[in-house]
Amino acid sequence: MITTKREKLIEALNSEPKVWDVIVVGGGATGLGTALDAASRGYKTLLLEQSDFAKGTSSRSTKLVHGGVRYLAQGDIGLVREALYERGLLLKNAAHLVKNESFIIPNYNWWSGPFYTIGLILYDLLAGKLSFGRSKHISKKETINRLPGIRQKGLYGGVVYHDGQFDDARLAINLAQTCIEQGAIVLNYFKVTDLLKENAKIIGVIARDMESGKTFTIKGKAVINATGVFVDDLLQKDEPHKQPLVRPSQGIHIVVDKQFMPGKDALMIPKTDDGRVLFVLPWHGKLLIGTTDTPLNEHSLEPRALEEEINFVLRNVGMYLTKAPERKDVLTVFAGFRPLAAPQEGSAKTKEISRRHKLIVSPSRLVTITGGKWTTYRRMAQDTIEKVVEIAKLNPRKCVTSDLPIHGNDKNVDRTDHLHIYGSNRDALLALVKENPEWAVKLHPELDYIKAEVVWAVRHEMARTVEDVLARRVRILFLDAKAAIEVAPVVAKLMAELLYKDKAWENQQVADFKNIAEGYVLVG
Ligand SMILES: Cc1cc2nc3c(=O)[nH]c(=O)nc-3n(C[C@H](O)[C@H](O)[C@H](O)COP(=O)(O)OP(=O)(O)OC[C@H]3O[C@@H](n4cnc5c(N)ncnc54)[C@H](O)[C@@H]3O)c2cc1C
Repeated sequence: MITTKREKLIEALNSEPKVWDVIVVGGGATGLGTALDAASRGYKTLLLEQSDFAKGTSSRSTKLVHGGVRYLAQGDIGLVREALYERGLLLKNAAHLVKNESFIIPNYNWWSGPFYTIGLILYDLLAGKLSFGRSKHISKKETINRLPGIRQKGLYGGVVYHDGQFDDARLAINLAQTCIEQGAIVLNYFKVTDLLKENAKIIGVIARDMESGKTFTIKGKAVINATGVFVDDLLQKDEPHKQPLVRPSQGIHIVVDKQFMPGKDALMIPKTDDGRVLFVLPWHGKLLIGTTDTPLNEHSLEPRALEEEINFVLRNVGMYLTKAPERKDVLTVFAGFRPLAAPQEGSAKTKEISRRHKLIVSPSRLVTITGGKWTTYRRMAQDTIEKVVEIAKLNPRKCVTSDLPIHGNDKNVDRTDHLHIYGSNRDALLALVKENPEWAVKLHPELDYIKAEVVWAVRHEMARTVEDVLARRVRILFLDAKAAIEVAPVVAKLMAELLYKDKAWENQQVADFKNIAEGYVLVG
């Protein structure tokens, strides 16, 4: 197995090439995908993430691998076709994390059945050979059977369609591991603090190891800014008065118990009271409900849901379920920022702002990639590296990621077993219990997660903090924030043993985690 040990990776950073082919800044979907594309073509690649992988938007999505039914309604056929193709590749290359999910659109007037059926048949056709299954109209009775809990008054029937569903942060971690397997160095807790320039051209970065505080001067033939909603911070280091490229738009989700809509299917509400779509999705044994679209002017790594967003989600979902979830039923609430590419004119309506990705080369040769979505990360990466090859004059080599399995890829996982998310690593993880039977013990009596998963996260998945484990390796923080706070001391103790940390570190970790997790608990 490849080494993911921080000390070894930093050692390699010191001894590796004097000049990297590609330096990627940002360890979300876009940066990780870009580093993987570069490394798998054989370029010497380094990726630096200031916090943890997927700490930003990439752990806060709706967990859909989709073409975007909504973009079809907006007539953006090219975007939908491209995303449906990528959806098919993800199901093939990360089969342990991406599943084919059926969605039902309930119809409350006579015309919406035929209307959505026709639209969704077009959606299937656009997927071509990579279709996830045909859309079809279903009766009122079948809609009620498949969506127990759906409001029956005025219901005519439903339309079923298929899309992908995944675990976003786990895919990011597996992408980081795949990058390392392909020869890249990827480091979390390594912040790029400045750009290195010579004759007005970028020749590298200055970066700080956020754990040791040590500063590194790192040279590269190309520097890629894949920092999501933070792209303008780096762009302004390059050109101080540059107009912002990104307009952040916040989206929130709430998570509630599965009893509000038991069953395997997801619910798609095609038109909320502000004209958006809202999803109610089964996810890791709970229901994930979202999202919103709130233009904001600030950005941070820990965005907080606004009261009006929470009310919006509860109000709209309440119109469709017989037993409406209330504030007290919310197990967790989380927010994320879409790094939408801002329009030139500066329109305030984010629905009108392009969902396509933007690839920009600055006069200094800094390459910035932003916008797009998780589903299209691979395509964004391919476009980026193609541009980099041209401007950095790298030896041209073909992109290989469409056929590259992502770490853990396994078609035959048993989704009733919560360890299926480890894919082909599941047995190796369970073997840890032989080393120490205590690691078979659950982290929380009401949750399936076991201590061995913490050990695995530290040894093989570069987890450095309690939050890394509870938010992005096992997803407890995103499923039940109070339970996450309860298990934090157990996780901190185990991590302290594994990382040779003292009691003060352990206590600080619990306090830091509690501080963050309290923002996911809905009070009042
Ligand atoms: C509410 C919501 C729902 C969504 N749902 C879906 C969905 O269902 N399906 C889908 O396909 N897409 C979805 N998206 C879109 C998708 O999540 C994003 O397009 C994607 O995650 C963006 O990834 P990124 O890597 O560009 O940004 P990020 O994930 O934010 O990554 C950027 C990273 O850069 C790091 N960084 C910043 N500055 C520095 C620095 N100086 N040095 C080092 N690192 C730095 C940050 O810490 C961060 O980790 C959704 C988005 C939102 C907000």
